[in-house]
Amino acid sequence: MNPGKILISESEIAQAITRLVEEIVHNYGDSDLVLVGVMDGAICFLADMIRAFPHPVDMVTARVSSYEGAKSSGQVNIDWLPSREQIEGRHALIVEDIVDTGATIATLTKELIALGAASVNVCALLDKPARREHGVEVTYAGFDAPDAFLVGYGLDYNGKFRNLSDLRKLSGAK
Ligand code: 5GP
Repeated sequence: MNPGKILISESEIAQAITRLVEEIVHNYGDSDLVLVGVMDGAICFLADMIRAFPHPVDMVTARVSSYEGAKSSGQVNIDWLPSREQIEGRHALIVEDIVDTGATIATLTKELIALGAASVNVCALLDKPARREHGVEVTYAGFDAPDAFLVGYGLDYNGKFRNLSDLRKLSGAK
């Protein structure tokens, strides 16, 4: 299977990251912020975001997944979470590749609150608002995405296409 034509280019992604980080820096000021990258899909986004910060910023990772192939399974699996020590009393900002039904970030938000986060917000590169089933708010969104299956820039289809530098629509995915 081949990914289709480019939907969002490398330079459009870079511009969105600059805008998002400016907003985040403006809103959080010098409060104790920790980015929580959702593995594996947010790996490129997280790596580019931390390098766009004008001052030191801490990051940790969580591995939470709900997709099987190109469909939401409706069930959220947690492989790992940050430790209490990494989260307690701090402002957590979930860094996610794409928010679809909202199940992944609803679950992760609950877990971070249970770990004692002072606040939890969400920064997603892509938002598919048309698909939402859970009442979650994406505070910082790079782009609204169409109701299609996207790959590239960390997003995969069965382990493939994460290495693309841009975002593409995959046709015929199951
Ligand atoms: P949700 O839990 O919001 O339904 O789904 C979010 C997760 O599903 C994302 O972290 C991502 O792993 C996966 N996902 C949702 N839409 C897409 C898509 O278009 N492409 C890829 N590759 N993954 C997606």
